[in-house]
Amino acid sequence: MTSESKPAHFLQNIIREDLAEGRVSQVVTRFPPEPNGYLHIGHAKSICLNFGLAQEFGGSCNLRFDDTNPAKEEEEYVEAIKRDVSWLGYQWNGEVKYTSDYFDQLYEWALHLIREGKAYVCHLTPEEARQYRGTLTEPGTNSPYRDRSVEENLALFEQMKNGEFAEGECSLRAKIDMAAPNINLRDPVIYRIKKMAHHQTGDKWCIYPSYDFAHGQSDAIEGISHSICTLEFEDHKPLYDWFLDNLPVPSHPRQYEFARLNLNYTVVSKRKLKQLVDEGYVDGWDDPRMPTLSGQRRRGVPPAAIRNFCEMIGVTRSDSVVDVGMLEYCIRDELDKTAPRAMCVLEPLKVTLRNYPEGREEVLSAPGHPVRDDLPARELPFTRTLYIEKEDFREEANKKYKRLVLGKKVRLRNAYVIQAEEVVKNEAGEIVEVICSVDLDTLGKDPADGVKPKGVIHWVSADKHVECEVRLYDRLFSDPNPDAGGKNFLDSVNPDSLKVLEGCKAEIGLATAAAGISYQFERNGYFCRDSEYGSAEKPVFNRTIGLRDSWAKEQNK
Ligand code: ATP
Ligand code: MG
Repeated sequence: MTSESKPAHFLQNIIREDLAEGRVSQVVTRFPPEPNGYLHIGHAKSICLNFGLAQEFGGSCNLRFDDTNPAKEEEEYVEAIKRDVSWLGYQWNGEVKYTSDYFDQLYEWALHLIREGKAYVCHLTPEEARQYRGTLTEPGTNSPYRDRSVEENLALFEQMKNGEFAEGECSLRAKIDMAAPNINLRDPVIYRIKKMAHHQTGDKWCIYPSYDFAHGQSDAIEGISHSICTLEFEDHKPLYDWFLDNLPVPSHPRQYEFARLNLNYTVVSKRKLKQLVDEGYVDGWDDPRMPTLSGQRRRGVPPAAIRNFCEMIGVTRSDSVVDVGMLEYCIRDELDKTAPRAMCVLEPLKVTLRNYPEGREEVLSAPGHPVRDDLPARELPFTRTLYIEKEDFREEANKKYKRLVLGKKVRLRNAYVIQAEEVVKNEAGEIVEVICSVDLDTLGKDPADGVKPKGVIHWVSADKHVECEVRLYDRLFSDPNPDAGGKNFLDSVNPDSLKVLEGCKAEIGLATAAAGISYQFERNGYFCRDSEYGSAEKPVFNRTIGLRDSWAKEQNK
């Protein structure tokens, strides 16, 4: 689906009108992550929206790190976020920006409010401040420090800045209205003391602006035309506007809210994802089971699949939970169109072709993709000994089983028709080898005897292949709503979400498979070489996704 074929969403309509009526001449948006964790699929919605609108309307989009809280933020996250935004296919306007770039200006604006009698240093303890704040149904009470003189406030704020007070001893508050129905307007804290180094500004500051004081003003400095955030900020909008109305800012951006993305069987909260990492439930932020962009990348999900998914779910103002099956559909749809084809036997069974000469090897050719002609053809060595999938052979079977059966024929994909003639078993009675005959007159055509093979199965040469490990993933949570009201999301972590298969046999060309590119292993799903585990001799492949929606099948049973 493209934006042309879909009705416009409310933000597109707003922007179109703003441009038409001259309220805005240049569309400037921003994506403002806090660098306190890795980006997840929810952030992708915001990225696609902000960068997408800028592209659509010929504007630009900034990447701004919202780094007002030195306690939880790290440089590692800054780098990871930049990588993920680029990977999704977007380029931010100019240099990366940081809210901390504006700390000097924000400090000046705090002084401005003090001079105008619109901010004061308050010595209430955090506990007292909570009591004075009132509740949703009761108005708050003025702080006893509210009517300090401008001079006193300037002096005290200077002392705060110079580190002369302890953390929590005092704060700078905007003087708005303690009786306002909107609690955000009840003299909100705009600067707090944090005696902590910052990843960008070092130990220059020991006071830091609040999110509310920093965000709108940063938007104004950057000339943001449409400041788009998620619905939980709706109640902050009057405060956003109050600061811009009461400060000599260079522009007055407008805030708009949209519903955040929630996905079933998934948690999208950096705090919870961090807990999964820190407590060892997963193998890092980029574990292929994680809904992080780095995890999805490592798993082999193409960025176009995520962009298409974000387009498909649309942008609204009502909260809902999206079925993770939609994301899976988009991944499959994209990979079907783009993924190079290959063969890999996950659970090998040896096949010996009794009438194929020992030591002979011919090289067969197979298309790189059924319709893409930019992918080179593959070379498949064909030899006397092969591997097929264990489950592709039975001694006896009914007509529905369209694979290899003793005494019957099957086609080897991209190769010849073979017939199973004998079975070799071990002492435990398990089948360890199938002896077959091959009809060398069947490359690309049916056998001359008129007996058509029932099915087509994949195979690899036992002499020339790549030994590999394959990792199959299931959903990380077995509960559709792992963090719904009162539940501990850790209780529903799926213990079987990773299954490792050793001794898999992949076609020889996969020796040079690159991490980050998903292949269709014919009949088995989409797989991508892991970027961290495995070696040149023995790569590890992650299953990106199966060929069909096995969950939907389960549910319809
Ligand atoms: P989390 O709850 O995971 O910590 P956050 O909102 O605190 O997320 P930020 O780094 O502040 O994370 O988010 C950057 C931007 O991404 C914000 O504009 C935020 O609204 C948006 N965003 C975060 N989560 C989602 C989501 N699930 N759906 C849509 N947008 C999101
Ligand atoms: Mg946040």
